[in-house]
Amino acid sequence: MLNVELGTPYTAVSSLLETEPWGFESEDKFLNAAVRYQLRLRKGYNPEAEGLMILEICKDIEKRLGRTGKPQYDEKGERIYSDRPIDIDILLFGDNKIDCEELTVPHKLMYERDFVMIPLREIMY
Ligand code: AMP
Repeated sequence: MLNVELGTPYTAVSSLLETEPWGFESEDKFLNAAVRYQLRLRKGYNPEAEGLMILEICKDIEKRLGRTGKPQYDEKGERIYSDRPIDIDILLFGDNKIDCEELTVPHKLMYERDFVMIPLREIMY
């Protein structure tokens, strides 16, 4: 689906890594993977605008794959995590840094999460 929406096939994909849930308890496990795309972007493109467009594509695919509802937060503003059929995050976008309300790139918590870094390491070259 990402290939279709981004208009190009991925250039690298990691193996699947099965992990325990992170940040909450569940009997279900998670399957994690990282995928890499090489996008053709206009010269002088706006990284935030392009990043937000890609985020919209990811959210739309999440919805089509059965993700419902909005992210939940506790009274301290911390994320409340729960089982979900799919979660697509933007980890890196070239060497751009984006920090706006809806999007932070590089992804804020990726360096703390082995389930992100292990698949990511497989596709970084
Ligand atoms: P998630 O539960 O991981 O799908 O993400 C929840 C929210 O995090 C989304 O609604 C996004 O607006 C926000 N967000 C911030 N930075 C990122 C990122 N790098 N990748 C994906 N979502 C992000």
